Amino acid sequence: MSNDQALESKIRIVLVETSHPGNIGAAARAMKNMGLSRLYLVAPEDFPNEKAVFRAASAADVLDQVVVCPTLQEAIGGCSLVLGTSARQRKIPWPLVTPKIAAERVVAHRLDPADIAVVFGRESKGLKNEELQQCHFHVNIPTSEAYSSLNLAMAVQVLAYEIFCANTESETAIVWDQPAATSDALEHFFAHLEDTLESVGFHDPDNPRQLMTRLRRLFLRINPDKMELSILRGFLRTVNEAIRK
Ligand code: SAH
Repeated sequence: MSNDQALESKIRIVLVETSHPGNIGAAARAMKNMGLSRLYLVAPEDFPNEKAVFRAASAADVLDQVVVCPTLQEAIGGCSLVLGTSARQRKIPWPLVTPKIAAERVVAHRLDPADIAVVFGRESKGLKNEELQQCHFHVNIPTSEAYSSLNLAMAVQVLAYEIFCANTESETAIVWDQPAATSDALEHFFAHLEDTLESVGFHDPDNPRQLMTRLRRLFLRINPDKMELSILRGFLRTVNEAIRK
């Protein structure tokens, strides 16, 4: 299985509920500087806006092609590698990587046919737990302990720069016989899994604890391929049929 498409054309930069249009423009500029052009906005507060065009400078073409989505799930739909960026550690930690390691994963994924998303949170409160939990990795940009939160467009710049460098320098690509499962396929699997766990009495929706969070983390960490996921779906179908009998 191989894909000759240029890596840059497979990368989506996703900004979730951005409040300041100037940050959207500055992010577009940061992207174009590093050869990226696919900007996705999840429910932006104020876009289109001339402040975005002003801050984009010569990257207005990136703004012209923006894709606006109502939800994060739509913005990452069809992606088989999703990186979530956050300054904050979480109670249930997600697989944590530096921007450099994240960029290496992106480059290693370049033969997979699906898109890759790098997700950025709100200026005020970043990404919610349930948003980070749709990602394979948590990317943290190392900072001074005194102030860990970068400006949104600056964070986009760091990730875009690392991906640019890794793509020029690295030869590594994962060679695999099957395409990786996409985030939509994974969401269907998680719903099917949760239903089945409930049907067999293993999962109590009234007392869920962190069961589904931990199972999401397990399966996202493995980054299953399409065939593996369809085997698991087949297994769940058989379990459900056996219960019904
Ligand atoms: N106050 C927010 C930070 C928002 S900064 C919070 O507590 O989460 C806006 C976005 O920039 C973040 O959601 C994240 O996507 C990115 N960002 C800022 N600083 C970062 C860092 N140190 N590491 C990774 N991403 C960062």
